[in-house]
Order: sequence, then structure tokens, then C-alpha cells
Amino acid sequence: VVSLHPERLQVVALTANRNVDLLEEQVRKYRPQFVGLVSVEAAAEMKRRLAGLDIQVAEGPDCMLEAAVHPSSQIVLNAVVGSAGLPPSLAALGAGKRLALANKESMVAGGELVLKALEQGGELIPVDSEHGAIFHCLRGEEAGEVEKIILTASGGPFYGKSRKELSGVTVEQALAHPTWSMGRKITIDSATLMNKGLEVIEAHYLFGVAYERIEVVAHPQSVVHSLVEFKDGSMSAQLSLPDMRLPIALALSYPERWGPPFKKTDLASLGSLDFDEVDPDTFRCLELAYRAGKEGGLATAVLNAANEVAVAAFLEGSIDFLGIERVVEITLDRYEPQTMDSLQAVMRAEEWARSTAEDSLRKVG
Ligand code: MG
Repeated sequence: VVSLHPERLQVVALTANRNVDLLEEQVRKYRPQFVGLVSVEAAAEMKRRLAGLDIQVAEGPDCMLEAAVHPSSQIVLNAVVGSAGLPPSLAALGAGKRLALANKESMVAGGELVLKALEQGGELIPVDSEHGAIFHCLRGEEAGEVEKIILTASGGPFYGKSRKELSGVTVEQALAHPTWSMGRKITIDSATLMNKGLEVIEAHYLFGVAYERIEVVAHPQSVVHSLVEFKDGSMSAQLSLPDMRLPIALALSYPERWGPPFKKTDLASLGSLDFDEVDPDTFRCLELAYRAGKEGGLATAVLNAANEVAVAAFLEGSIDFLGIERVVEITLDRYEPQTMDSLQAVMRAEEWARSTAEDSLRKVG
């Protein structure tokens, strides 16, 4: 998106976890003032590679906070994976920035804190494609006229499968997403439908809609990115080919619209669009997410942290695919309700959830 609009956008800061090669390529192309790597070794390597250039290189998790409040920036695009994205989200809003939010875990782990920060300043535009679509559908509409939010789900690689068929699936099968090209963690979350569950929670906080009025519908083509139903029964949807450059561009350009970031959607060549019910008995993670959401407080932070542990264990081969939902359920069953009143409380609940989930891994096998 930045490459398409060099006269409008300038990259001020870039951070990564440890991917020095890709970050270096981006740094040489976009020449930011600030570069951060969470990995200390990776940061040392980056310093060697960028020696002689006038670019500040920072290290450790705090580099994300420094980038989020950089005085030269106006917009912070947060695409961190996992709840490690929450502190930079809060920092960006605290510094009065526009937060272009792709990190759904900011809302899942700390939704109430993000909303509190937003009351003080800053602005939030969702980048998650479904929420970007809802944001688009709500432009010029009154919140009180919304009846329902309908999130579309591609269904992932296991759409239409039975529970029995899911029990033996491999990591490779789970990583083969039919429509979206994404990182490993979110691709597994798409296969279990936990990604949709996290998005239900994200939608609840972003748009202030009760869980009873948020629905999920399967839509294998991933062209309708989500819908809003209004009080009078009309529905609005946002459609495009599945490509993250569009929600990113809207979050950067809003309230303007710039030229299309990729080829336009040709309806005739798409042919038909299908919609179907999501099978709640096969994909139990979705139901677990609703349960945590309705419980409120820190239950959603616990759900997310347990899921992070379970997905990592599945990717390492230490539990099977259906073990992911069992780890999450066991952890939620053990959780005692607590309120989401500070970042410290969120971090303590996550730490508890991680160790509880780790304990349950052996049981689940
Ligand atoms: Mg999404």
C-alpha cells in the first residue's frame, strides 16, 4: 500500500520479531527513522547490517512501544501476532495516534482497556478484514439502528468435515488455507474456527454489539467480508477479492478512498457466492469463544492465552488437532472470574492461563 502511494505515505518506524532479512529489505526500500527487533540477537545483526545508515535500531519487546509512540508518526499499523500486541495498541492510543488494528488479540485480551484508552484520545480503525468490512458498512449509519453483525467465515481447510474426520488431520493439512495467505498461528486458528471466535469478541468490543446479536455464517469464497443487518431488515455487505491490502488501505486513507490496491473484483467471473451454517458440533472453539465473551472480565484473555499454548503444541506435534479445543476448554473450566481493570491484571491472567494450559497438555496428549 505504501509503495502505491509514496506521495501520501511515509514509513517512520518498522518493527519485527526476528526476521532480519525481510525487515532489512523493507528498511532499505522505505528508509524509516526507527527500526526495532524483539529478538536481541536479531537486533545486533541488524545493527551490523545497517552500520553507516542514519537509522536508530532498538531491541527487545519495548521496541514496539517506542515505535508506537514515535513523535513523527500519525498512524500505527499493529499487525503483531498474539496478545503481545496489546501494550503497543494502548501506547499508540495514549500518544493520540490513529491505531490501524490488525492485532485482534488487543481486543480479545484487553478490549475494555483499549476502549478506556480510546475515551482519552486517539482513533481506532479495524484492519481485520471482517471488521474493516463492518466499519465500512457502518459509515454514515447510527449505531442504534444496527440489529445484527454477521461475520463471514471461509470455514478454513476443514469446511464440511465431520468431527471424526478432524481427529487425524496433520499440521500440513491444517496450514493449507483455501483462500487467505496468512501466518502459521492465524491459519491454524482459521482451521479450528477459533479465529472466528476471537473475531466475535473483537466485534463485540469494537462495535458495542451484544454477543446475542453477533452471528457467524460460512462463506467459502471469502468475497463477502462481513455484513450488518439493520432494524428494518436491510443488510449491507462489503465485497472484494480476498486481499489484505484493501482493509489496510482503508485504515490508512480513511475518511478518503484512494485508488484500488489490486485488480478490481469482477462479479461475473466469480460466478456464485455460497452461504451456509457453521457446524457448531464440529468446530467447538467457536462456542468456547462465545462462552468466554459472555462471561466477560478476563475470560477472553484466558481463552486467547490457552489457545496460543495449544496451537504452539499442535504445531510442534505434541497434541492432535482436536486437542486444541480440549486444552482451551480445560483452562476455561478452571478460570475463576476476575475483572479486566489493568494491563497487569491481563498479564497475570494470561500467565495463569498459559501455565494451566501447559499442565493440561499432558492430559490431552
Ligand atoms: Mg479476519
